[in-house]
Amino acid sequence: MKRETRLIHSGRPQGDQGLVNAAVERASTVLAPTTAELYQPTPPRRHYARGGLSPNAELREALCGLYGADHCALASSGLAAVVLAMRTALDGAGEALISDSVYGPVRRFCDEELPRLGVSVRYYDPRIGADIAALITPDTRLIALESPGSLTMEVQDIPAIAAAARAAGAKTVIDDTWSAGMLMNPLELGVDFAAQSLTKYVGGHSDFLAGAVLARGADAGRLKSRESLYGQHVSPDDGFLALRGLRTLSLRLERSGASALTLAKRLENHKKIARVLHPALPGNPDHAIFQRDFSGAAGCFSVILDGVGARDGEAVAERLTLFGLGFSWGGYESLVLPCDRQIRRTATPWRAEGCLIRFSIGLEDVDDLWADLQSALA
Ligand SMILES: *Cc1c(COP(=O)(O)O)cnc(C)c1O
Repeated sequence: MKRETRLIHSGRPQGDQGLVNAAVERASTVLAPTTAELYQPTPPRRHYARGGLSPNAELREALCGLYGADHCALASSGLAAVVLAMRTALDGAGEALISDSVYGPVRRFCDEELPRLGVSVRYYDPRIGADIAALITPDTRLIALESPGSLTMEVQDIPAIAAAARAAGAKTVIDDTWSAGMLMNPLELGVDFAAQSLTKYVGGHSDFLAGAVLARGADAGRLKSRESLYGQHVSPDDGFLALRGLRTLSLRLERSGASALTLAKRLENHKKIARVLHPALPGNPDHAIFQRDFSGAAGCFSVILDGVGARDGEAVAERLTLFGLGFSWGGYESLVLPCDRQIRRTATPWRAEGCLIRFSIGLEDVDDLWADLQSALA
């Protein structure tokens, strides 16, 4: 089955009632008829709600189907999912190599919390590819990727980095929020743990936060155990919204992606834009890797305004009327985010001709969005 078909048919309720959608089961306690059943419930009976009743069980199954994974852990947010993946990959003290373009709050976790756990952190150039091998030491336990990178959109050579990690016995974690598990499968490319913020494209409506981590084989077993140790939980209402979002994910992603590419191409020719950071553009430095590993593009990309400082860039963003000024992305509504206040680099300097602005393109008519962009830029 193709992914589009899988999204519709996996994680559907198994009962004989004929319901199309999984029921929202609100519960903590699950009563048992005997003590034996209490401690060793016969499936599908569960012994407690944290492990996931309906619809979270169906959501896990649907996401496993999408990634070809053996376990899907659910977490209270995308950030919690990335953290859970890192804690699972890191079995004790050692060193973590982190892409210099990771999501800001993940970077904060790496800087502030990993050292407290006895893990030293080194950042690497997202475009390093197979040369990551030169940075790996016998202490390296974890290599973290995010592709494309938050804000700056570098595409990583995932198979090359995953192969180097595997050869050295280090585990890999990727933040796969941009592809939503639809446009690329990091587990197929050799990554051990794929984390995703379901808040973004899977949710699609900017109305809840949740995250997921996916893994195969022995990693899946470790992931399941860590998920339970850390007490992660997603409410059944949010699980329902995530599952509902999954059903229309391919359509929404297709529309957002197509409109974003149209706007990216038009912006490329706009005199006030120095550069468009969108990997599906043929002139993008990562285009060949993108073509090789991704089946399409999502609707989130950035631009560099030519010779314009952060304050003027913020003024352009504030002049847009159809684009909301806000964090997050992947919703039905278009968003704009001036980013210079939050770009952090240590492995590679960030050089740009002007300020960076990120767009998340929603489901509005693309020509209406273009008219809004043209007038704000003017
Ligand atoms: C938003 C985001 C997250 C965090 O997701 P939340 O659900 O908001 O915690 C993680 N990684 C990336 C790339 C994101 O854009």
